[in-house]
Amino acid sequence: MNTLLRIAIQKSGRLQEGSLDLLKESGLKFSNGKDQLKTQARNFPVEVLFLRDDDIPQYVEDKVADVGLVGENVFAEKQKKNQIVKRLDFAKCRLSIAIPRAETYGGIPSLNGKNIATSYPNIVKDFLKKHNVVPAGIHEISGSVEIAPGIGLADAICDIVSTGSTLLSNGLKEVEVVMQSEAVIIANPDLEPEKQAILDKLLFRIEAVKKAKNNKYILMNCPNDAIEKITTVIPGMKSPTIIPLQRQGWSSLHSVVDENDFWEKIDLLRSFGAEGILVIPIEKMIV
Ligand code: ATP
Ligand code: ZN
Repeated sequence: MNTLLRIAIQKSGRLQEGSLDLLKESGLKFSNGKDQLKTQARNFPVEVLFLRDDDIPQYVEDKVADVGLVGENVFAEKQKKNQIVKRLDFAKCRLSIAIPRAETYGGIPSLNGKNIATSYPNIVKDFLKKHNVVPAGIHEISGSVEIAPGIGLADAICDIVSTGSTLLSNGLKEVEVVMQSEAVIIANPDLEPEKQAILDKLLFRIEAVKKAKNNKYILMNCPNDAIEKITTVIPGMKSPTIIPLQRQGWSSLHSVVDENDFWEKIDLLRSFGAEGILVIPIEKMIV
């Protein structure tokens, strides 16, 4: 039988859409019906399993799945035999400690003797231990952690924060960031060579998709004497493409620009005399 790499992704929730998009943009074709538990890609040796995110690290350790797509927070909490093989730049959030808004925060030592409610007891224990804090207790609850102080269950909480609006509406304030998180691909550390080869091929594709998202194709008209300066700002993959314009002394210059410092670069290019700048999305980028 042909080897299949089994990939576990979240069945429904905040990771689902990003996970499906990632696999599809990597060229995998598969169906994902509403109540489906697993499906096989039609054009790549992969089987996709749809699971609860919390269960994925265990399944990867047990080799029910070979790899999984989870939040780094879940990877850190479960402490299973998994390794991170790729960071994915989506589902970015942070895990923070919050206390009632009316209280004055006295720094990490003020958490000594406090009751803390969280869905991430291992992460919280490690964090407090690192800072020599001994809490009265860490109460594991699986959802709606932010109501715990209001109902007298805890003095503080540790939970996922993205905008802070949930904290605010529950009368809490964020006082300490415990970890930053993003979606990651985890893998069992001892995959069979055939599976590792499939994973490497998939990771190569994912990297191409990721790079494409972080870069734009850029073209502009520029005076010939500005080409050298422009090339230092947007060197491109090897070097920019220069095509002479019919108009004497001018060229069309094509290159690639990083999304992160995009606007600063555009301002520089304009100051060098570039005109008619077009910026186009890239679908895949193989360096
Ligand atoms: P499941 O039913 O599969 O157990 P869940 O309720 O535990 O789902 P979700 O709320 O769907 O989990 O979140 C999944 C992951 O998405 C989290 O572990 C975290 O990494 C990330 N995440 C959670 N909240 C946010 C947010 N507000 N912004 C960005 N990423 C988030
Ligand atoms: Zn979950």
